[in-house]
Amino acid sequence: MYVAQIRFAMPSEADEEQALEAINLFLGSLRGNGQLCGAEISLLAATQGYFSFVLIPDEDALDAAHYNRYAKQSLEDFKKIGLVAPEFTIIGQDTDAADSCTCATSDWYILFTTYLSLESPLHCGNCFGPIALYRIAPTYDDAEYYDIHCWQADYQACDQLQMNCQTLERSATRQLSQLNSSLSRQGRKICKKITQASTIPTFYYLYRDKGNSREEEVSRLCPSCHQEWFLAEPVHGKFDFKCDRCHLLSNLAWDVR
Ligand SMILES: [Zn+2]
Repeated sequence: MYVAQIRFAMPSEADEEQALEAINLFLGSLRGNGQLCGAEISLLAATQGYFSFVLIPDEDALDAAHYNRYAKQSLEDFKKIGLVAPEFTIIGQDTDAADSCTCATSDWYILFTTYLSLESPLHCGNCFGPIALYRIAPTYDDAEYYDIHCWQADYQACDQLQMNCQTLERSATRQLSQLNSSLSRQGRKICKKITQASTIPTFYYLYRDKGNSREEEVSRLCPSCHQEWFLAEPVHGKFDFKCDRCHLLSNLAWDVR
């Protein structure tokens, strides 16, 4: 991920209220399209106009070539109200973030996030690097990824509750772990959509919290097709189970791993 500055110059004749509305719509459309990471987007007022400092998934994430119809419409609205197009400057690379996938092709994808993650929840199955959402076909309304953003926010909320171990820990863990929880159904529906549109099998991860023993864990069967899915070697150091029939992944329970 990179940190970028977006500058919105404010011509003296422009109406401030209209300008702010158009700017916020533009930033929202970039976020909806996966061109910005994270949910928080701040806008700072300065004498030279407005500035936003944003996290972006790739160096070229703000290229107009990636815009969806909402971003294009926003820029048309900019012209109507006397605003000029925003200026983008890359400030630097986020040293904490995982490198984006640069594989020429991915053989498979994984939908995966955690409560700490700011990056795209779509990962390359080959390198596990995150893939910016605008790189795949829209999954919602032919223009954006609203369903993926909703799933990610819900998943992160459950993961946070599960980590904190205070409130709704067991319900949150069930949502993360069970094949038929509403969270898993939502996630698997997204995986199916991505698989159909891209023809790249997209796997869903089922979190596994506790087990009785390693022996019992290893013999665990796929919860969907009830066939063997244990891997001799974990994939990406975290997935000990993989079912190619059902496009599911899981881990050995952390307490016996
Ligand atoms: Zn299966």
